[in-house]
Amino acid sequence: MAELKLSESRDLTRIERIGAHSHIRGLGLDSTLEPRAVSEGMVGQTSARKAAGVILQMIKEGKIAGRAVLLAGQPGTGKTAIAMGIAKSLGQETPFAMIAGSELFSLEMSKTEALMQAFRKAIGVRIKEETEVIEGEVVEVQIDRPAVSGAASKTGKLTLKTTEMETVYDLGAKMIEALGKEKVQSGDVIAIDKASGKITKLGRSFSRSRDYDAMGPQTKFLQCPDGELQKRKEVVHCVTLHEIDVINSRTQGFLALFTGDTGEIRAEVREQIDTKVAEWREEGKAEIVPGVLFIDENEMSPILVVATNRGITTIRGTNYKSPHGIPIDLLDRLLIISTQPYSEDEIRKILDIRCQEEDVEMSEEAKVLLTKIGVETSLRYAIHLITAAALACQKRKGKIVEMEDISRVYQLFLDVKRSTQYLMEYQNQYMFNEVPTGEGDDD
Ligand code: ATP
Repeated sequence: MAELKLSESRDLTRIERIGAHSHIRGLGLDSTLEPRAVSEGMVGQTSARKAAGVILQMIKEGKIAGRAVLLAGQPGTGKTAIAMGIAKSLGQETPFAMIAGSELFSLEMSKTEALMQAFRKAIGVRIKEETEVIEGEVVEVQIDRPAVSGAASKTGKLTLKTTEMETVYDLGAKMIEALGKEKVQSGDVIAIDKASGKITKLGRSFSRSRDYDAMGPQTKFLQCPDGELQKRKEVVHCVTLHEIDVINSRTQGFLALFTGDTGEIRAEVREQIDTKVAEWREEGKAEIVPGVLFIDENEMSPILVVATNRGITTIRGTNYKSPHGIPIDLLDRLLIISTQPYSEDEIRKILDIRCQEEDVEMSEEAKVLLTKIGVETSLRYAIHLITAAALACQKRKGKIVEMEDISRVYQLFLDVKRSTQYLMEYQNQYMFNEVPTGEGDDD
């Protein structure tokens, strides 16, 4: 692994998805760390956000080491959103990795591997690369192909045409990449096969038949800029250690980053990558960007932000009860932030922000209904209905989501309460049913 593969992950980092928390751009605090009512996608939950602001300050001052944060609160009260807000406030490039406690118990990989991957997803590497470019004007060379082939005196007629300056950097970098260390001379003509992208250097004497006649008709001829050669341009990429791992793991291949099907990564691969990254850091080529690892409901491990919506319950794997099911000695080391349920008005504002985020136009009555549903069921359920209702609206060729769309999807998709009720009624027909028969059948 002399050359770590990075280019693929660079492309991946550009892919954006509309995730459940995509509207969260920070904690929405002012310069004195006071929470603004509605800001950066955040609504309400002021004391938790204020506390998160203090944590943020501690992280920035490097005082958080060895401490962890526990976000405690009922389901859907914005614990994940706040953790995301902390990461966003630390910088746009700060990695935010999320893992649910249950993922650690997956059958596909060991607990150690799952934890290791989660940690490495939360560590960013900022890589500075110096690309060699050629600055100057690029000219496209159009060669009229001689009609008769085989003649010794074949020469083409040349027309030089200036192309966009924008392509200068790309072309210069591409040429050097393709032609290796060998210096490209000013005025050289290169041939690019449009189909394969293959670049061949023709030197200056491009009028000779053997240079261009051998190339396919799709070949594009370009003349190297006449300007200065070998200028350097700094390009910065931010990738996570996990992305570098996956791309360099021979068993996986980078497509695994899309499917998430990364399997186990060999220890040697990680060791090599760590050594390489350490080298880059020494050479001043790379910096480490510590991110936020958010572990939902997990009772072990050195973590930054843990969230729980569990009350007083048993510690998993034991018969002991404790607050949040977290051992008391660990709990004692956590800074605890609690989140509160939302008011109707706050739910409405969050739904407004989500409609905007998802580009969904919704009538006032539909929003009132959706807010009611949010109050009765959960904020998360109401947020999910936005996308579904927009699809229902599209299906009836409507432009604005109306009440009818909301009620249609409300009937289609169950919330937890209705789903539980359904399970109680039909529990016998499900696998792994633990409720004694009779209980749910009676009503
Ligand atoms: P659980 O305990 O079930 O894991 P949670 O407390 O982590 O829940 P979130 O997932 O953060 O809850 O919240 C549910 C949805 O509501 C998310 O889409 C989140 O981004 C959004 N949301 C929650 N709180 C706020 C807020 N204060 N401002 C804006 N959006 C919010």
